[in-house]
Amino acid sequence: LPDRYKTVGNSVWNEFGQLAIEHKPLNLGQGFPDFPAPAYVTKALADVASGQEPLLHQYTRGFGHVRLVNALSKLYSKLIGRPIDAFSEILVTSGAYEALFSCIGGHTRPGDEFIIIEPFFDCYEPMVLAAGGKPVYIPLRPKSTTSSGPTTSADWVLDLNELASKFNSNTKAIILNTPLNPLGKVFTKEELTTIANLCKKWNTLCISDEVYEWMTYKPNKHVRIATLPGMWERTITIGSAGKTFSVTGWKLGWAYGPAKLMENLRIVHQNCVYTCPTPIQEAVARSFELEMTRLDSPDCFFNEISAILEPKRDFLVNALTHIGMKPVIPEGGYFVVADWTPLENSVNLSKETDKYKDYRFAKFLTKNIGLQGIPVSPFYSEPDKPLASNLIRFCFIKKDENLQQAAKLLRDWK
Ligand code: PMP
Ligand code: GLN
Repeated sequence: LPDRYKTVGNSVWNEFGQLAIEHKPLNLGQGFPDFPAPAYVTKALADVASGQEPLLHQYTRGFGHVRLVNALSKLYSKLIGRPIDAFSEILVTSGAYEALFSCIGGHTRPGDEFIIIEPFFDCYEPMVLAAGGKPVYIPLRPKSTTSSGPTTSADWVLDLNELASKFNSNTKAIILNTPLNPLGKVFTKEELTTIANLCKKWNTLCISDEVYEWMTYKPNKHVRIATLPGMWERTITIGSAGKTFSVTGWKLGWAYGPAKLMENLRIVHQNCVYTCPTPIQEAVARSFELEMTRLDSPDCFFNEISAILEPKRDFLVNALTHIGMKPVIPEGGYFVVADWTPLENSVNLSKETDKYKDYRFAKFLTKNIGLQGIPVSPFYSEPDKPLASNLIRFCFIKKDENLQQAAKLLRDWK
């Protein structure tokens, strides 16, 4: 194995995915819905598959199927408030994952620094390292709250002086994720403005992972950092059809930004993936076209999804609180992070040998209680992993009956 991959072990997704196959727990681990996507979305793919258009089963344009980049251009031009060119400012990728990979790989010279906010979606770190860059970490820290009431993801904040101290002349980019996986933090316009000002001061890029852009809970609103003054020209924004339309298995994503920056992603993409599956792109394009006719209506799936998720979030938060865990109420996304250590006396972690306690607890829960969550230390750099040893993440984009079953498993155990 080349040195650049040597620091990277088996990812938490592969490890816990395998555990789920072996132990068949109720799975609130990896983030994916266990209920059907909107019928028109799967029907669009069925129509493409059974239709009589032979070219929809052949290679399509390498940087994105024309019908899809046109749809993305129309939607994001409106959301960003400027014309976004379908052919030079958008790239369609193999999931948001490949958008991140092409973006990081296409912008890294040896020693370039990438500021990463902890907890972070785990792939940012190996992608920066494999590209020859240097991750520079800054943790969100829970505010010391005076009340003993529930905490929310808004209580997890950046220390502004600490953030400013991470920028220097080697900084290539900051990687932002809002709403944030795993905490569900939705960065406010003020927080984003602070980040934007530092990017401008140090002339850095901003890689903005917005795959959960449609999942925010009242009164929180998703703000796209590319809309802030002076940010379009330095921001690459990343999205995911898997998250947007509840079809994570389709693995289709995109990146958009100014043409000069997008050229760098294209080079990586054309020499790796080259082009994404045509039928999937066509079906996603048709789905966007439908939703764009009703963007302001509650029937639009982009609005409906948060309304579907909010009661699920509340149910899971209550169930976790009820058995004594301390959940952090998320403002967005579809995960709840909870402090499980009030239950420490009820668990026997001695059979597990993992270095970090959160790993041992998540494995205990999968194997003995039949419930899978994801440990949170993989979302931290090695020196900061102890910050997560009390934490576990649960996914709540699940059928009500499965969330109820999860609550029951926890109740029966306690
Ligand atoms: N970024 C974040 C924050 C994620 O949670 C995920 C997982 N969906 C991805 C990127 C990757 O998305 P995709 O499945 O479209 O590759
Ligand atoms: N984003 C999902 C999660 O955090 C899936 C992880 C992945 O795609 N590797 O659970």
